[in-house]
Amino acid sequence: IARAPALFGPGRRNSRGWDLAHAPDLAEIEAARAPHRGARWQAGPLIAGDAAPGPACGVVNPADPGDVVGQVRPASDADVDAALAAARPWDAPVDDRAAVLRRAADLYEDHFGKIFALVAREAGKTLADAVGELREAVDFLRFYADEGAASDAPARGVFACISPWNFPLAIFTGQIAAALAAGNGVLAKPAEQTPLIAHLAVTLLHRAGVPRACLQLLPGDGATVGARLTSDARVGGVAFTGSTETARLIRAAMADHMPPGTPLIAETGGLNAMIVDSTALPEQAVADILASSFQSAGQRCSALRCLYVQEDIAESFLTMLQGAMAELRLGDPWDLSTDVGPLIEAAAKDDFTAHIDRARTAGRLLWQGDAPPAGHFLSPTLIRVDGIAALEREIFGPVLHVATFRAEEIDSVIDAINSSGYGLTFGLHSRIDDRVQHVAERLHVGNLYVNRNQIGAIVGSQPFGGEGLSGTGPKAGGPHYLARFRARPVAPVNE
Ligand code: GLU
Repeated sequence: IARAPALFGPGRRNSRGWDLAHAPDLAEIEAARAPHRGARWQAGPLIAGDAAPGPACGVVNPADPGDVVGQVRPASDADVDAALAAARPWDAPVDDRAAVLRRAADLYEDHFGKIFALVAREAGKTLADAVGELREAVDFLRFYADEGAASDAPARGVFACISPWNFPLAIFTGQIAAALAAGNGVLAKPAEQTPLIAHLAVTLLHRAGVPRACLQLLPGDGATVGARLTSDARVGGVAFTGSTETARLIRAAMADHMPPGTPLIAETGGLNAMIVDSTALPEQAVADILASSFQSAGQRCSALRCLYVQEDIAESFLTMLQGAMAELRLGDPWDLSTDVGPLIEAAAKDDFTAHIDRARTAGRLLWQGDAPPAGHFLSPTLIRVDGIAALEREIFGPVLHVATFRAEEIDSVIDAINSSGYGLTFGLHSRIDDRVQHVAERLHVGNLYVNRNQIGAIVGSQPFGGEGLSGTGPKAGGPHYLARFRARPVAPVNE
């Protein structure tokens, strides 16, 4: 069958979400999430057969290590073996699969109170981020349901879906929904840091009607569960979002153990830049920089890491930026007044501390505020650099680097950004149309945003993904994504 997918046009609608500035929405959220504030959650393998009992470990709130959010029992080798043996593609008719995924989207929305509570306590997400997280997950389910229903091309088989802690519901769900919509089975390995959200999501997907053998959950770490899944020839493809280094390891393991042509769909890191020229509207640019760099405590692969400000306006602009940074409130992500929540774990904080200490010693630390003593908090930080080349690797937190440039240097700035090797997001604040055109043509990035922030791509209208070290493509939430989850027609030989 070939039906026109309802993409971008009328008939396809993203979730309504919640408006936090609208008192009735807020009251509804508060009433729904309050009962889950002190709840204890359980997670473990959800496989086709029975998982054997085993030792569990505690999951704590990154904003408050005294708050035990739940317990997780990681998958054992025997669980991984059993899941691999039981896994099978989802051979239901395309319309039935789409109906189940749409039902799952409705179930996710029905459980918003639990989800917002868990996303705050397990992943340290503010309420605004939690709302975005649920909306994106629901949008992925409905979008891929529509896309899946538009073709009955055969599936690849069984996909391993390996997802990150920074979008523990949205990206976790997006990978799974795409694989299932195309008719694959799924072995899902969530990030070690966020198994409880993953467990809730898979429970809802099963309840919606995804057969257990077609979606199995294997919590655990990359070295055991991830390494097993990416080196087993029964796995027909891998969807991965995480670091560029891990993507390299996965590709090497797949090359050794899987047939050539087995797809790896990887969304990896970024060294994302923004250029603010002298025609930018400063108040707007500052607000967009705060969102791009510090929302989600900078723990997005789309986040802004290196800002270039035109020299003519730099002094007053950076004063305004630092003033605005000083207004950001760090704290418990559950509180409505919190702008910046915690880092995901202590190790992340240690990593930044050394980076910031080096900048301080070199006299390049422009601004850093105070952070709450308990929990894994890091205050938004501003560091002066000569250019993006000073950033040797992705800094995955609320640390912004700033450089200045003269108008005639714009091409060398673009070249420097391109030569980082990454190509994920880029922001431009300028009111000169020719410049916007010029920069857009010359930069190699997946998502380019003009006169707005550079995070929070919307499913169906802003397909998300990068090039170079930032990923393999195709873009998530776009019209080409599902094709990689389907079998390619075999080319006739000798013709
Ligand atoms: N899609 C997200 C955004 O646009 C980022 C995804 C990620 O961090 O992996 O902000």
